[in-house]
Amino acid sequence: MNVRPRINRWTESRRDLIFSSSIKSSLVQPHFVVEGDGVDKEISSMPGIKRQSVDILLKTIRSDMEIGITSHMLFAVIDSHQKDGKATIASSDKMHLQDAVRRLKEEYGDKIVIMTDVCLCTATDHGHCGIIDHDHRISNDATIDELCKIALSHAKAGADYVSASDMMDGRINSIRQALEQNGYTSTGIMSYSVKYASAFYGPFRDAADSSPEFGDRNSHQMDYRSGYEEAILESMEDQNEGADILMIKPAIAYLDVVRKVKDKVYRPVAVYNVSGEYSMIMNSFDGKSRDSVIIEILNSFKRAGADVIVSYHSRDILSRNLLG
Ligand SMILES: [Zn+2]
Repeated sequence: MNVRPRINRWTESRRDLIFSSSIKSSLVQPHFVVEGDGVDKEISSMPGIKRQSVDILLKTIRSDMEIGITSHMLFAVIDSHQKDGKATIASSDKMHLQDAVRRLKEEYGDKIVIMTDVCLCTATDHGHCGIIDHDHRISNDATIDELCKIALSHAKAGADYVSASDMMDGRINSIRQALEQNGYTSTGIMSYSVKYASAFYGPFRDAADSSPEFGDRNSHQMDYRSGYEEAILESMEDQNEGADILMIKPAIAYLDVVRKVKDKVYRPVAVYNVSGEYSMIMNSFDGKSRDSVIIEILNSFKRAGADVIVSYHSRDILSRNLLG
């Protein structure tokens, strides 16, 4: 079975995230998770966002849950000595990210929605999103095998949605089959369906330590000069392969694409309000004018058709109850 519409209805917290029309319910807070104890380190290019070890992350998410943030996206940050050419560590059940998922699910059960990033770039020593072949190119199908292992490990830990951010062709179908074959029939897939090769990702690569050592990501991420047809094609492919949520990334510069895709697909649409967009606002505005700009931008995502909004602004906005 490729499509299981019940996945998005599985828990009340998933239903609130996806089907509520309010901006507050649509927000997802991203987190960067490192190994160790007591780590709570600011990311200089992203004011207010930190790298945290699991013990500190649990405290952060406890206070987030208290202010109404129930959906969380976790990214693993991995020490360089643990990286290799195949991102082997990323699919280890003993990894700190999987540990965080297990502990959060133990504490909150169905009250929390946990999304986990599934890609190779944070765990490869060359920083690329896939397995590199002898021509220094990313091998699509060899990469998919590794992505399936990572997705299964996250599903086993209890993730609500595995979030495939790699942009390999056909990976949603393979991840869906792997989940089915291993009995994870309520685990959702959020697909980064329309992900552009964008200069707006700069601060994130500092945060996740995932910059490629050579070359770029132009052979798998989309060309921003491409038309709506390719965005719709990628989204339809992922929809047919079994994605439960389709994402467009970045957000602010691509709201026209969000609307075009939303009008064509039958699955919920997410936007990722990326690190460069976040830093741009944080560095350009202060006080009340910053708040107003953020609220205006969040409204533009909804108007364009986003059901789910992944944003680094979530905590700040909800902690001061600015959405009413
Ligand atoms: Zn990647």
